[in-house]
Amino acid sequence: MNLLNGLNPEQLAAVTLPRQHALILAGAGSGKTRVLTTRIAWLIATNQMTPQQVLAVTFTNKAAKEMLARLTAMLPINVRGMWIGTFHGLCNRLLRAHYRDAGLPQLFQILDSSDQLSAIKRLLKSLNVDDEKYPPRELQHFINGQKEQGLRPSAVEAWDGYTQKRVQLYEAYEAQCNKEGVVDFAELLLRCYELLSRNEALRRHYQERFRHILVDEFQDTNILQYKWLKLLAGAEGCLFCVGDDDQSIYAFRGAEVGNMRDFEREFRVPNVIRLEQNYRSHGNILDAANAIIKNNDNRLGKNLWTDAGAGEPIRVFEAYSDLDEARWIVEEIQALARDGHARSEIALLYRSNAQSRVLEHALFSAGLPYRVYGGLRFFERQEIKHALAYLRLIANPDDDTSFSRVVNFPTRGIGARSVEALQDAAKAAGSSLFAAIPAMSGKAGTSLANFAALIGRMKEMAHLPLPELVDHIVELSGLREHYKNDKEGQDRLANLDELINAATSFIAEEGVIGEGGVIGEGGELSADLIAFLAHAALEAGEHQAGEGDDALQLMTMHSAKGLEFNIVFVTGLEEGLFPHENSVMELKGLEEERRLMYVAVTRARQRLYLSHAQTRMLHGQTRYNLPSRFIEEIPGGLVKWLTPRIARHGGAHGGVSPRLTFADAPRAASSPRAGGAGYRIGQTVRHAKFGEGIIINLEGGGEDARAQINFGSAGMKWLALSVAKLEAAT
Ligand code: ATP
Ligand code: MG
Repeated sequence: MNLLNGLNPEQLAAVTLPRQHALILAGAGSGKTRVLTTRIAWLIATNQMTPQQVLAVTFTNKAAKEMLARLTAMLPINVRGMWIGTFHGLCNRLLRAHYRDAGLPQLFQILDSSDQLSAIKRLLKSLNVDDEKYPPRELQHFINGQKEQGLRPSAVEAWDGYTQKRVQLYEAYEAQCNKEGVVDFAELLLRCYELLSRNEALRRHYQERFRHILVDEFQDTNILQYKWLKLLAGAEGCLFCVGDDDQSIYAFRGAEVGNMRDFEREFRVPNVIRLEQNYRSHGNILDAANAIIKNNDNRLGKNLWTDAGAGEPIRVFEAYSDLDEARWIVEEIQALARDGHARSEIALLYRSNAQSRVLEHALFSAGLPYRVYGGLRFFERQEIKHALAYLRLIANPDDDTSFSRVVNFPTRGIGARSVEALQDAAKAAGSSLFAAIPAMSGKAGTSLANFAALIGRMKEMAHLPLPELVDHIVELSGLREHYKNDKEGQDRLANLDELINAATSFIAEEGVIGEGGVIGEGGELSADLIAFLAHAALEAGEHQAGEGDDALQLMTMHSAKGLEFNIVFVTGLEEGLFPHENSVMELKGLEEERRLMYVAVTRARQRLYLSHAQTRMLHGQTRYNLPSRFIEEIPGGLVKWLTPRIARHGGAHGGVSPRLTFADAPRAASSPRAGGAGYRIGQTVRHAKFGEGIIINLEGGGEDARAQINFGSAGMKWLALSVAKLEAAT
């Protein structure tokens, strides 16, 4: 089968495993994502499952899209109905389909993390809670942390008064969300988990449907996500998880590397496959990555090798200041561009978002186009959030967060005092802010009634095609007029136009989710609108302008996970910044930072630059920083200093670490011919000694017919069909 061409023996074994649980534990760039995607294609191509029976989870929307694109390139299938997405995206889909059973309004809205923070602030204010004693951000972290462990307020153990109070606030926050018909990110997962645990019929339905569950970046799943997977797999399901413990970088968000060990133990995983050949990076880059990660204890242990050759040395630059660093990067990139390197193949990575500003400024001044991923994302920009808030109010006027955001934006004479009076009225009536408007009198009452009428007029347009609707809302709300008169409003106007474009491409790509129909009590709401609002809350800036341009790629190291580029700059390698000062006090924190460094370094295919600056402005202060210990962990022989260096950094390490150079194991010839009496590729068979296996290759005919069969833990075998005594299994 040509799907399987070019896979190495371990990859081939993993792709063609029989229907059993499997864990693919392998280092960066060893083809985990490729194996997972190819397995989906293989299972479908060999009729072991239909596209509808697959559930695949990846970590970002970008990765999910990439996976769908790769699948369509491999197979002529319609991927639209497939359940491939992020945990949040998939849970959203499930909850939309079963909103009633989940106890949610049909048009429930999703709070992203900044919405959630404002909802919490609003809550603290309405309860007169001192927000110095209970900082909103910390409370948000607390609430999400509990949810990520699957804990509702009644299940949280609170030993001290402080925690008891926080649990109370958690409970009040839940009540507020329920009243307003909104769910936050963590709630999407927990709700979905509870729904499936509680509702046996539904659970059975999905368990029977999803015969294969595949998970990428498994090392970064949290407790609840793992429980969710277990629930969906049930007793019959089959979990195929790929991951790399060395790339676990989300412990701060509750990720549990221990899930990998637990999975292996709890499911008695018969197949743990290790992939050790790296196809991404040149030898020097890989050696550097291996040398860095070796400093961590508690690894599951694996080594990576490549036959790509050592390649170039790793270039290290010491700058005087952050500005100097940015200037050097610009010059280097200009030189690379002159040599014919595509800008889109160059990535600039940094530890924290705040670092991007100086880089952006330098690139902008030099006229170098760039895109920022994971920074202030498109859908998080002020003007976009305003426009979306109007759209959300059309869908659900009880959404108090959206209401508060735009009731007086653009200004329409509804001051803070009027809003407070409205809040009191709503509280007294136990209703939403919108519903309390009729109870208001006087001047405030009139202005608020006008606002309600405005939303009413917008609602009358809700049946229009989505891009048209967005256009009208931007106009009617007064947002367009407002930004026209704003000194710095040009960008914002451009972004609002971009929102209309985003709506257009959304319909083209995903309008199918709502099947273009209308829903809602009076049949007046476009299903596309609801789907679009969910998408806006979940999406990570894919609609940023200039998508097709050849632009430099800027992102934090966290958002670079899973991606690869020919040339990578890892910037700001300074003690205190990276490793981050908050992390170095504890071994656990330091090790997580080191894994992040490992992720950053292994993004590079051909060339890796590392830079640090002696001084840097951060949070309004100039700081003097030592070079990061991570630079020093790289053997000196792999490195080329671009600036004269003080002797202590040179020669402190031995030469290049010896690289393993295994010969590529001979690969079985694969032919698509379906030979052998009545056997076919993809068929499950049983052998008296080796157990159940899957035919992945058939060769020869008659007496000579042979089959290559993947018996999972019993290995891959070539068997002569005339003597093998195979039984067909189902
Ligand atoms: P990460 O840990 O960074 O997510 P990964 O293990 O998922 O990496 P992939 O992204 O699947 O690795 O693969 C890395 C690169 O190597 C990709 O460009 C992929 O196409 C290529 N690759 C993987 N396997 C092979 C192979 N057998 N032959 C040629 N190229 C391969
Ligand atoms: Mg990957």
